[in-house]
Amino acid sequence: MRVDWTSDAGVWRLTFLLDPEDETTGTCADGQRLELRTNTCHVRLPRTREPYAHPDLLAVAAWTVAAPWTRRRVTFDRPISAGLAEALRTGWGVDAGPVGEGPREGTRLAISYSGGADSMAVADVFPDAPFVHFERVSHPRVPNRWTHYRSDVLARLARETGRDVTIVRSDLEFVLDFPRPGYPEHHAVAAGALLLADDMDLGGLAFGYELGSRWLGGDRYLLRFTPDNPMWSAEGPWGRLFAAAGLPVVLPVGGVSEAVTMRIALGSDLREQVRWCLRGSGDGPCGKCGKCLYKELIQAAVERRPLRTSLTAGSGVARRWQEPPPYGGQEMIEYGCAHVPGIETTPFARAAEHLGATEESTRWLERCYPPAIGEIPERWRGQVEAYILDNVGLMTSDDARRVETWGTR
Ligand SMILES: [Zn+2]
Repeated sequence: MRVDWTSDAGVWRLTFLLDPEDETTGTCADGQRLELRTNTCHVRLPRTREPYAHPDLLAVAAWTVAAPWTRRRVTFDRPISAGLAEALRTGWGVDAGPVGEGPREGTRLAISYSGGADSMAVADVFPDAPFVHFERVSHPRVPNRWTHYRSDVLARLARETGRDVTIVRSDLEFVLDFPRPGYPEHHAVAAGALLLADDMDLGGLAFGYELGSRWLGGDRYLLRFTPDNPMWSAEGPWGRLFAAAGLPVVLPVGGVSEAVTMRIALGSDLREQVRWCLRGSGDGPCGKCGKCLYKELIQAAVERRPLRTSLTAGSGVARRWQEPPPYGGQEMIEYGCAHVPGIETTPFARAAEHLGATEESTRWLERCYPPAIGEIPERWRGQVEAYILDNVGLMTSDDARRVETWGTR
């Protein structure tokens, strides 16, 4: 793979050219098969001229887009540091170069802010940290078949938080043709933060990935304890790559479930701007998509009230919960079924029967898994730990065993 960045008036344009051994079918770190559609994209920074970015930052930003299709080597258009080349070699088995630049570092923490409950919870842990928000825009050469995705609404809500918000616009999701436009690697959401890291003096980037995504296999590795999660563990390939670029990944809510991040977001002074639905207009979430139904289950559980939805068991988006488990985000389906009054009259009635979860069996989902705090870079660990102790509390060793045996019971 050969990677080339050009810049003009605050817009960085990426072109990547495949080597003979590369392929247009690839897999990203979570195992999803992807088809390459086009080899160019751009990232527009809200700056009138492009700020300086260390070559390691440019290389990592490019790698979040090009990694799935690269087989044996990657050639960047400017020299990277030896540490970054080593992280690419050990993490992916690719020869990376040329090498010749010194390592970079920075000071501040920024939040990769989507506007959902998880990243809003991170914002509550770090009330002074600036946000970097990724806004999808159309690609000039790829038709947009996903016009229902209202990235403009999400960007407006981010701006309305009143925090220090930097909106970065990019079409990088359209380099993918299959299964749908999306981040080639989950870390591509950070492309703008990477390109701005020197300008903003960033030394860490916080994401809203919570217990399920970090430790319980997320949606993809269903029902498996994943201490070695290749995307989000500090010692995994991506964790080491970001650290090598002087921008370590920070997961302030990596040890708590979506019940906790929901509770924190609903109690946050940013509550009016929370939005997890990608389709809703300016008036509010759509209330019709699977994400809305899943998050309504969690919110109703946290508020200990009946489910508010017009969707039924026969609705298309509820079909997955009419089947036996496993389910994506199953720990939260268990939590919801155990805490929502009248669950037997909702689209989750069948799932509740299969799972047989109780308040007692799901109590571990209300506390923090301690190893998640140990994984936070030392510079920010104290603030996370103090917040967790004040607002959440730590799991007992029995609770922690629930995490560590997830998928084996
Ligand atoms: Zn929705």
